[in-house]
Amino acid sequence: ADALTRAESLIRTVPDYPEPGVLFRDITPLLADAVALRACIDGLIAPFAGQFDVVAGIEARGFLIAGAVATVANVGLVPIRKAGKLPRPAASVSYALEYGTATIEAHDDIAQGTRVLLLDDVLATGGTLAAGHQVVAELGGVVVGTAVLMELAALGGRALVPDTHALFTV
Ligand code: 5GP
Repeated sequence: ADALTRAESLIRTVPDYPEPGVLFRDITPLLADAVALRACIDGLIAPFAGQFDVVAGIEARGFLIAGAVATVANVGLVPIRKAGKLPRPAASVSYALEYGTATIEAHDDIAQGTRVLLLDDVLATGGTLAAGHQVVAELGGVVVGTAVLMELAALGGRALVPDTHALFTV
């Protein structure tokens, strides 16, 4: 718990990034700290221990979380990438952004019925994780949980991904 408190204090708040008026939560100082990183990875896994066969991480910061979780939990990893990055996408889901749309894709490396823990760094409006759920479903996987380091509660994303496990909430 102590290490988690420290970890939370290592998330840096950057005003006016990526645009004026936005308070960006920068997790890179947390990633750079061995004890904080490990505490977070353990904390993300704990509620789902033994309940997932693979992790799926959403580009790009979700990859960093997913890689560490996969290694600690002894499971494989499926990257969910932004459109156009994967040579043979088998699932493709588009979702609304504040301005325009985004598309995420994945390869069919999830066997039917595989239990998937879906990971990203931050839950904001929830659009990205909701789309991640759809990608996994299109591949025939079963999302057994969604976990993030930080939830930005004011943006209400939990309405779209209700059972998300957030280590920190602001
Ligand atoms: P959502 O789709 O929930 O609105 O946005 C979540 C996505 O945007 C995540 O992939 C996350 O990486 C990114 N994101 C949005 N706001 C922040 C933020 O303040 N800090 C970080 N690190 N990522 C953010």
